[in-house]
Amino acid sequence: MINNSGDPFHSHELFLNALDFEREVIEFFAPFYGFDRDNLWGIVTFSGTDGNNHGIYFGSKCLENKTHKKPIVYVSDAAHYSNMRLADLQNFELRLIPSDIHGCMIPEEFEKALVPNRPALIIYAMGTTFKGGIDNQDKLNAILAKYPSIVAYRHVDAALFGGYLPYTKYRDVVNRKVHPFDSIAVSGHKFFSMDEPAGIFLTTEDVLKNQNPYQVSYLNGNMPMINCSRSALAPLKLWWLIHHVGEDGFTEQADGMLERAEWLKEKLDAMGWPAGLEPMSNTVYFKRPNEAIVEKYGLAPDYDERLGGELSHIVVMRHVTKEALQGFLDDLENSNGK
Ligand SMILES: *Cc1c(COP(=O)(O)O)cnc(C)c1O
Repeated sequence: MINNSGDPFHSHELFLNALDFEREVIEFFAPFYGFDRDNLWGIVTFSGTDGNNHGIYFGSKCLENKTHKKPIVYVSDAAHYSNMRLADLQNFELRLIPSDIHGCMIPEEFEKALVPNRPALIIYAMGTTFKGGIDNQDKLNAILAKYPSIVAYRHVDAALFGGYLPYTKYRDVVNRKVHPFDSIAVSGHKFFSMDEPAGIFLTTEDVLKNQNPYQVSYLNGNMPMINCSRSALAPLKLWWLIHHVGEDGFTEQADGMLERAEWLKEKLDAMGWPAGLEPMSNTVYFKRPNEAIVEKYGLAPDYDERLGGELSHIVVMRHVTKEALQGFLDDLENSNGK
């Protein structure tokens, strides 16, 4: 049994654990998201959802501590459903903001929904689930700037895109020095291709200081995170990936994914098959093909009246080769537009 119950940043080595490795993993990833190592706290999580759970929980405690008011959670209706589930679980008033046809929160709708006398816990979706839209942080921040009385906390849900974006020319979009945010959640089993669900959650010392401390004597410390027992194997696997794939490997993998996503979009365009690919995205969405093709490739369904109704998408991950995509394109070609 190996167990990472405890805080990787204040570890006390009471039993067999990988807390030092966990801390190294967090410290490796920190600069890619614009966190300074001397103002950093984070953990390896069980999943992207677990990271979002920490983002909402830490964000709300931080805001409540500073304002003595309960925040309102704002997230777009195209964001991953875990955010809605977690706002419900944590009993927050949720404002679901309509998204545009690209899957991005509509800034004017955000402004209409803003409640001036309550703190705002905003979740920026970086890679919405179906269309791969990225919320426009500049425009949403400009709206917040018009309401200086609203104390805000920004959590970034970057479960999928947050894995690869730091290794592309789009890296600034997940850099808090360029676009300020307070915490970020990224999955470990998506871009980093771990063999079990896991993720990372990163935030600052300031946010950590504003949490409810639970001084737990048998663990020799204050336990800020939600879970007691945590995986010690997941940090070891991430540590292994960092040392065996590393920044160069991640860069090559990220470039390949985006290149193949663009290639797929161009092929669909050439075929005249309605398709979309948002900037910085590896997710190509298109008019849903016939049932046989949907079954064969396990395509996920969605529906958007504004784009002609039934849609599917392909998330171009590392294992989605050009050969596999070409097979799909051939099937589509042979389906006579159905
Ligand atoms: C996959 C995903 C999640 C959920 O992450 P899990 O690791 O599956 O819990 C949350 N948000 C976004 C944007 C995702 O892509």
